[in-house]
Amino acid sequence: KVLRVALLGLGGYAQRVAESIQSCKRVKITGLISGTPDKLKTWSAKYNVPEKSCYNYQNFDSIKDNPEVDAVYVITPNSLHREFTIRAAKAGKHVICEKPMAINVKEGEEMIAACKKANVKLLIGYRMHFEPHTLEVIRMRNEGDFGQIKFFQGLCGFRIGDPAQWRLSKALAGGGSLMDIGIYAINGCRYMVGEEPIWVTAQETKTDPVKFKEGVDETIQFQFGFKSGAVASCLSTYNMNNLDRFFLNGEKGFAEMLPSTGYGPIKGKTNKGEINAPVVVHQTEQMDQMAGILFDGKKPVVPVDGEEGLKDLKIIEAIYKAVATGKKVSL
Ligand code: NAD
Repeated sequence: KVLRVALLGLGGYAQRVAESIQSCKRVKITGLISGTPDKLKTWSAKYNVPEKSCYNYQNFDSIKDNPEVDAVYVITPNSLHREFTIRAAKAGKHVICEKPMAINVKEGEEMIAACKKANVKLLIGYRMHFEPHTLEVIRMRNEGDFGQIKFFQGLCGFRIGDPAQWRLSKALAGGGSLMDIGIYAINGCRYMVGEEPIWVTAQETKTDPVKFKEGVDETIQFQFGFKSGAVASCLSTYNMNNLDRFFLNGEKGFAEMLPSTGYGPIKGKTNKGEINAPVVVHQTEQMDQMAGILFDGKKPVVPVDGEEGLKDLKIIEAIYKAVATGKKVSL
Protein backbone atom coordinates (compact mmCIF):
# COMPACT_ATOMS: atom_id res chain seq x y z
CA LYS A 1 0.00 0.00 0.00
CA VAL A 2 1.28 3.41 -0.97
CA LEU A 3 1.50 6.09 1.75
CA ARG A 4 -0.27 9.21 0.51
CA VAL A 5 1.10 12.16 2.40
CA ALA A 6 0.16 15.83 2.69
CA LEU A 7 3.07 18.18 3.45
CA LEU A 8 2.29 20.98 5.91
CA GLY A 9 4.63 24.00 5.95
CA LEU A 10 6.38 24.39 2.59
CA GLY A 11 9.79 25.72 3.68
CA GLY A 12 13.36 24.60 3.21
CA TYR A 13 13.17 21.17 4.75
CA ALA A 14 9.78 20.40 3.19
CA GLN A 15 11.44 21.08 -0.16
CA ARG A 16 14.11 18.47 0.58
CA VAL A 17 11.48 15.98 1.75
CA ALA A 18 9.35 16.57 -1.35
CA GLU A 19 12.30 15.97 -3.68
CA SER A 20 13.32 12.84 -1.77
CA ILE A 21 9.80 11.41 -1.94
CA GLN A 22 10.10 11.42 -5.75
CA SER A 23 12.45 8.40 -5.43
CA CYS A 24 10.31 6.58 -2.85
CA LYS A 25 8.96 3.14 -3.70
CA ARG A 26 5.76 3.51 -1.73
CA VAL A 27 5.18 7.18 -0.82
CA LYS A 28 3.36 9.83 -2.82
CA ILE A 29 2.59 13.50 -2.15
CA THR A 30 -1.18 13.89 -2.44
CA GLY A 31 -1.81 17.03 -0.39
CA LEU A 32 -0.26 20.40 0.42
CA ILE A 33 -0.93 22.83 3.28
CA SER A 34 0.57 26.32 3.34
CA GLY A 35 -0.18 29.85 4.44
CA THR A 36 1.22 31.20 1.17
CA PRO A 37 -1.12 30.91 -1.88
CA ASP A 38 1.79 31.32 -4.32
CA LYS A 39 3.62 28.34 -2.85
CA LEU A 40 0.49 26.19 -3.15
CA LYS A 41 0.31 27.14 -6.81
CA THR A 42 3.94 26.31 -7.69
CA TRP A 43 4.16 23.21 -5.50
CA SER A 44 0.86 21.74 -6.75
CA ALA A 45 2.04 22.15 -10.35
CA LYS A 46 5.49 20.71 -9.59
CA TYR A 47 4.28 17.69 -7.62
CA ASN A 48 1.04 17.15 -9.48
CA VAL A 49 -1.28 17.70 -6.51
CA PRO A 50 -4.85 18.68 -7.49
CA GLU A 51 -6.20 22.00 -6.28
CA LYS A 52 -8.88 20.27 -4.21
CA SER A 53 -6.10 18.74 -2.09
CA CYS A 54 -4.41 22.08 -1.38
CA TYR A 55 -5.26 23.77 1.91
CA ASN A 56 -4.39 26.88 3.89
CA TYR A 57 -4.05 26.95 7.67
CA GLN A 58 -7.68 28.09 8.05
CA ASN A 59 -9.46 25.43 5.98
CA PHE A 60 -6.96 22.64 6.66
CA ASP A 61 -9.29 20.78 9.08
CA SER A 62 -11.50 19.82 6.13
CA ILE A 63 -8.72 17.45 5.06
CA LYS A 64 -10.73 14.96 7.12
CA ASP A 65 -13.05 14.63 4.10
CA ASN A 66 -10.17 13.91 1.73
CA PRO A 67 -9.84 10.15 1.15
CA GLU A 68 -6.66 10.71 -0.92
CA VAL A 69 -4.56 11.60 2.15
CA ASP A 70 -3.37 9.02 4.72
CA ALA A 71 -0.94 11.16 6.71
CA VAL A 72 0.05 14.78 7.31
CA TYR A 73 3.77 15.62 7.58
CA VAL A 74 4.22 18.69 9.84
CA ILE A 75 7.36 20.65 8.80
CA THR A 76 6.80 24.08 10.38
CA PRO A 77 8.78 25.98 13.02
CA ASN A 78 8.89 23.97 16.26
CA SER A 79 6.28 25.84 18.30
CA LEU A 80 3.61 25.13 15.66
CA HIS A 81 4.11 21.34 15.72
CA ARG A 82 1.65 20.86 18.56
CA GLU A 83 -1.30 22.67 17.03
CA PHE A 84 -0.93 21.16 13.56
CA THR A 85 -0.32 17.64 14.89
CA ILE A 86 -3.47 17.79 17.02
CA ARG A 87 -5.55 19.21 14.15
CA ALA A 88 -4.30 16.53 11.75
CA ALA A 89 -5.07 13.81 14.30
CA LYS A 90 -8.58 15.20 14.81
CA ALA A 91 -9.01 15.02 11.05
CA GLY A 92 -8.30 11.29 11.33
CA LYS A 93 -4.91 11.40 9.60
CA HIS A 94 -1.68 9.75 10.77
CA VAL A 95 0.91 12.36 11.67
CA ILE A 96 4.59 12.56 10.85
CA CYS A 97 6.05 15.51 12.77
CA GLU A 98 9.51 17.00 12.47
CA LYS A 99 12.01 17.11 15.34
CA PRO A 100 11.93 18.43 18.00
CA MET A 101 8.39 17.05 18.28
CA ALA A 102 7.37 20.11 20.36
CA ILE A 103 8.90 22.87 22.45
CA ASN A 104 8.30 21.23 25.83
CA VAL A 105 7.25 17.98 27.51
CA LYS A 106 3.69 19.12 28.22
CA GLU A 107 3.01 19.82 24.53
CA GLY A 108 4.60 16.52 23.52
CA GLU A 109 2.31 14.67 25.91
CA GLU A 110 -0.73 16.47 24.53
CA MET A 111 0.23 15.45 20.99
CA ILE A 112 0.64 11.79 21.99
CA ALA A 113 -2.72 11.85 23.81
CA ALA A 114 -4.50 13.48 20.84
CA CYS A 115 -3.17 10.88 18.40
CA LYS A 116 -4.08 8.06 20.75
CA LYS A 117 -7.60 9.44 21.15
CA ALA A 118 -8.04 9.81 17.39
CA ASN A 119 -6.59 6.32 16.87
CA VAL A 120 -3.91 7.55 14.47
CA LYS A 121 -0.17 6.96 14.60
CA LEU A 122 2.35 9.66 15.44
CA LEU A 123 5.87 9.39 14.01
CA ILE A 124 8.75 11.83 14.49
CA GLY A 125 11.10 12.69 11.59
CA TYR A 126 14.16 10.96 13.05
CA ARG A 127 15.78 10.19 9.69
CA MET A 128 19.00 8.83 11.29
CA HIS A 129 17.05 5.87 12.68
CA PHE A 130 16.92 4.47 9.15
CA GLU A 131 20.47 5.34 8.06
CA PRO A 132 22.47 2.17 7.21
CA HIS A 133 25.90 3.16 8.71
CA THR A 134 24.16 4.17 11.92
CA LEU A 135 22.21 0.92 11.99
CA GLU A 136 25.41 -1.06 11.41
CA VAL A 137 27.08 0.52 14.47
CA ILE A 138 23.97 -0.27 16.52
CA ARG A 139 24.03 -3.85 15.23
CA MET A 140 27.71 -4.25 16.14
CA ARG A 141 27.11 -2.82 19.61
CA ASN A 142 24.18 -5.20 20.14
CA GLU A 143 26.39 -8.12 19.04
CA GLY A 144 28.92 -7.10 21.67
CA ASP A 145 31.62 -6.07 19.17
CA PHE A 146 32.56 -3.03 21.28
CA GLY A 147 32.17 -4.79 24.62
CA GLN A 148 30.70 -2.92 27.55
CA ILE A 149 30.04 0.68 26.44
CA LYS A 150 31.96 3.22 28.52
CA PHE A 151 31.79 6.59 26.74
CA PHE A 152 30.01 8.57 24.04
CA GLN A 153 30.91 11.96 22.60
CA GLY A 154 28.46 13.85 20.38
CA LEU A 155 29.42 17.13 18.69
CA CYS A 156 26.65 18.85 16.76
CA GLY A 157 26.56 22.38 15.44
CA PHE A 158 26.73 24.91 12.66
CA ARG A 159 27.18 28.66 12.41
CA ILE A 160 23.73 30.15 12.05
CA GLY A 161 23.16 33.04 9.62
CA ASP A 162 20.27 35.49 9.35
CA PRO A 163 19.51 36.86 12.84
CA ALA A 164 15.83 37.39 11.87
CA GLN A 165 15.06 33.70 11.22
CA TRP A 166 12.59 31.72 13.36
CA ARG A 167 15.39 29.48 14.69
CA LEU A 168 16.58 32.49 16.74
CA SER A 169 13.12 33.28 18.12
CA LYS A 170 12.35 31.74 21.50
CA ALA A 171 8.60 31.87 20.70
CA LEU A 172 8.92 29.91 17.44
CA ALA A 173 11.92 27.67 18.18
CA GLY A 174 11.35 27.03 21.89
CA GLY A 175 15.06 27.56 22.57
CA GLY A 176 18.24 27.75 20.55
CA SER A 177 20.85 25.34 19.20
CA LEU A 178 19.88 22.57 21.63
CA MET A 179 16.32 22.32 20.22
CA ASP A 180 17.50 22.36 16.64
CA ILE A 181 20.86 20.62 16.33
CA GLY A 182 21.88 19.58 19.86
CA ILE A 183 18.90 17.21 19.81
CA TYR A 184 20.94 15.05 17.39
CA ALA A 185 23.60 14.56 20.06
CA ILE A 186 20.93 13.72 22.65
CA ASN A 187 19.06 11.31 20.42
CA GLY A 188 22.30 9.92 18.97
CA CYS A 189 23.73 9.35 22.41
CA ARG A 190 20.67 7.29 23.31
CA TYR A 191 20.80 5.08 20.23
CA MET A 192 24.60 4.74 20.19
CA VAL A 193 24.98 3.88 23.90
CA GLY A 194 21.74 1.89 23.84
CA GLU A 195 20.68 3.09 27.26
CA GLU A 196 18.73 6.02 28.74
CA PRO A 197 20.73 8.60 30.73
CA ILE A 198 19.95 8.89 34.45
CA TRP A 199 21.53 12.28 35.15
CA VAL A 200 22.66 15.38 33.31
CA THR A 201 24.95 18.34 33.98
CA ALA A 202 25.23 21.27 31.56
CA GLN A 203 26.97 24.60 30.97
CA GLU A 204 26.04 27.41 28.59
CA THR A 205 28.33 29.85 26.80
CA LYS A 206 26.98 32.95 25.06
CA THR A 207 29.39 35.16 23.11
CA ASP A 208 26.74 37.15 21.20
CA PRO A 209 23.79 38.14 23.41
CA VAL A 210 22.39 40.39 20.66
CA LYS A 211 21.98 37.57 18.16
CA PHE A 212 21.18 34.94 20.82
CA LYS A 213 18.52 36.55 22.98
CA GLU A 214 17.19 35.45 26.36
CA GLY A 215 16.08 31.82 26.14
CA VAL A 216 17.91 31.18 22.85
CA ASP A 217 21.07 29.20 23.56
CA GLU A 218 24.14 29.67 21.40
CA THR A 219 26.38 26.94 22.85
CA ILE A 220 25.66 24.32 25.51
CA GLN A 221 27.98 21.56 26.68
CA PHE A 222 26.24 18.73 28.49
CA GLN A 223 27.20 15.49 30.17
CA PHE A 224 25.17 12.35 30.87
CA GLY A 225 25.60 9.44 33.23
CA PHE A 226 24.11 5.99 32.68
CA LYS A 227 23.17 3.21 35.09
CA SER A 228 25.81 0.93 33.53
CA GLY A 229 28.49 3.43 34.52
CA ALA A 230 28.91 4.78 30.97
CA VAL A 231 29.24 8.55 30.61
CA ALA A 232 28.72 10.97 27.73
CA SER A 233 29.98 14.42 26.83
CA CYS A 234 28.25 16.51 24.17
CA LEU A 235 28.39 19.92 22.53
CA SER A 236 25.52 21.76 20.86
CA THR A 237 26.22 25.05 19.11
CA TYR A 238 25.05 27.66 16.61
CA ASN A 239 28.52 29.14 16.50
CA MET A 240 30.87 26.57 14.87
CA ASN A 241 30.98 24.90 11.50
CA ASN A 242 32.24 21.39 10.67
CA LEU A 243 30.92 20.01 13.90
CA ASP A 244 29.17 16.72 13.18
CA ARG A 245 30.91 13.84 14.93
CA PHE A 246 29.97 10.88 17.14
CA PHE A 247 32.48 8.76 19.01
CA LEU A 248 31.52 5.64 20.94
CA ASN A 249 34.00 3.78 23.11
CA GLY A 250 33.63 0.36 24.71
CA GLU A 251 35.87 -2.09 26.54
CA LYS A 252 36.63 -3.99 23.34
CA GLY A 253 36.33 -1.40 20.58
CA PHE A 254 35.13 1.92 19.26
CA ALA A 255 33.00 3.52 16.55
CA GLU A 256 33.50 6.92 15.00
CA MET A 257 30.89 8.58 12.77
CA LEU A 258 32.19 11.60 10.82
CA PRO A 259 29.93 13.07 9.57
CA SER A 260 27.38 11.56 11.91
CA THR A 261 24.01 13.21 11.24
CA GLY A 262 24.39 15.56 8.25
CA TYR A 263 22.36 14.83 5.13
CA GLY A 264 25.12 12.53 4.04
CA PRO A 265 26.84 10.51 2.99
CA ILE A 266 27.45 9.35 6.57
CA LYS A 267 30.89 7.85 7.14
CA GLY A 268 31.79 5.49 9.93
CA LYS A 269 34.73 3.43 11.09
CA THR A 270 35.28 1.08 13.97
CA ASN A 271 38.25 -0.79 15.44
CA LYS A 272 37.46 -3.37 12.72
CA GLY A 273 37.78 -0.87 9.85
CA GLU A 274 35.58 1.26 7.60
CA ILE A 275 31.86 0.63 7.71
CA ASN A 276 30.67 -0.38 4.26
CA ALA A 277 26.95 0.22 4.27
CA PRO A 278 24.67 1.44 1.49
CA VAL A 279 24.60 5.20 0.93
CA VAL A 280 20.97 6.32 0.89
CA VAL A 281 19.03 9.56 0.65
CA HIS A 282 17.96 9.76 4.29
CA GLN A 283 14.52 11.21 3.64
CA THR A 284 13.70 8.70 0.87
CA GLU A 285 14.64 5.80 3.13
CA GLN A 286 12.79 7.34 6.09
CA MET A 287 9.56 7.82 4.17
CA ASP A 288 9.54 4.34 2.61
CA GLN A 289 10.23 2.80 6.02
CA MET A 290 7.52 4.92 7.61
CA ALA A 291 5.02 3.53 5.09
CA GLY A 292 5.95 0.09 6.45
CA ILE A 293 5.50 1.25 10.04
CA LEU A 294 2.12 2.84 9.35
CA PHE A 295 0.63 0.12 7.15
CA ASP A 296 2.46 -3.13 7.90
CA GLY A 297 3.07 -2.67 11.63
CA LYS A 298 6.85 -2.78 11.04
CA LYS A 299 8.98 -1.98 14.08
CA PRO A 300 12.12 0.07 13.40
CA VAL A 301 15.34 -0.92 15.26
CA VAL A 302 15.26 2.49 16.98
CA PRO A 303 11.71 3.78 17.59
CA VAL A 304 10.39 6.90 15.84
CA ASP A 305 7.09 7.22 17.70
CA GLY A 306 5.80 10.05 19.87
CA GLU A 307 7.20 8.43 23.02
CA GLU A 308 10.66 8.52 21.46
CA GLY A 309 10.24 12.23 20.69
CA LEU A 310 9.07 12.82 24.25
CA LYS A 311 12.19 11.16 25.71
CA ASP A 312 14.35 13.75 23.95
CA LEU A 313 12.11 16.60 25.15
CA LYS A 314 12.44 15.40 28.76
CA ILE A 315 16.21 15.42 28.42
CA ILE A 316 16.17 18.87 26.76
CA GLU A 317 14.16 20.26 29.69
CA ALA A 318 16.61 18.66 32.13
CA ILE A 319 19.58 20.20 30.28
CA TYR A 320 18.00 23.67 30.42
CA LYS A 321 17.32 23.11 34.13
CA ALA A 322 20.92 22.04 34.71
CA VAL A 323 22.13 25.18 32.92
CA ALA A 324 19.83 27.42 34.96
CA THR A 325 20.65 25.87 38.33
CA GLY A 326 24.25 24.80 37.77
CA LYS A 327 23.26 21.51 39.40
CA LYS A 328 23.24 17.87 38.41
CA VAL A 329 19.67 16.98 37.36
CA SER A 330 18.28 13.45 37.74
CA LEU A 331 16.26 11.99 34.91
P1 NAD B 1 11.98 26.93 7.13
O1 NAD B 1 12.03 28.26 7.75
O2 NAD B 1 12.76 26.68 5.89
O3 NAD B 1 10.46 26.54 6.80
C1 NAD B 1 9.43 26.73 7.72
C2 NAD B 1 8.12 26.83 6.99
O4 NAD B 1 7.07 27.05 7.93
C3 NAD B 1 8.09 28.01 6.00
O5 NAD B 1 7.53 27.60 4.79
C4 NAD B 1 7.19 29.02 6.68
O6 NAD B 1 6.47 29.81 5.74
C5 NAD B 1 6.25 28.11 7.45
N1 NAD B 1 5.56 28.77 8.57
C6 NAD B 1 4.29 28.58 8.90
N2 NAD B 1 3.94 29.35 9.93
C7 NAD B 1 5.01 30.09 10.25
C8 NAD B 1 5.24 31.08 11.23
N3 NAD B 1 4.30 31.48 12.09
N4 NAD B 1 6.47 31.62 11.28
C9 NAD B 1 7.45 31.23 10.45
N5 NAD B 1 7.27 30.30 9.49
C10 NAD B 1 6.06 29.72 9.40
O7 NAD B 1 12.38 25.89 8.27
P2 NAD B 1 12.82 24.37 8.05
O8 NAD B 1 14.30 24.29 8.03
O9 NAD B 1 12.09 23.81 6.91
O10 NAD B 1 12.34 23.69 9.42
C11 NAD B 1 11.01 23.29 9.62
C12 NAD B 1 10.99 22.14 10.65
O11 NAD B 1 11.72 21.04 10.12
C13 NAD B 1 11.62 22.46 11.99
O12 NAD B 1 10.89 21.86 13.02
C14 NAD B 1 13.00 21.85 11.90
O13 NAD B 1 13.52 21.47 13.16
C15 NAD B 1 12.73 20.65 11.03
N6 NAD B 1 13.92 20.23 10.26
C16 NAD B 1 14.31 18.94 10.32
C17 NAD B 1 15.40 18.52 9.63
C18 NAD B 1 15.81 17.06 9.64
O14 NAD B 1 16.87 16.75 9.13
N7 NAD B 1 15.00 16.19 10.19
C19 NAD B 1 16.14 19.43 8.86
C20 NAD B 1 15.72 20.75 8.81
C21 NAD B 1 14.60 21.14 9.52
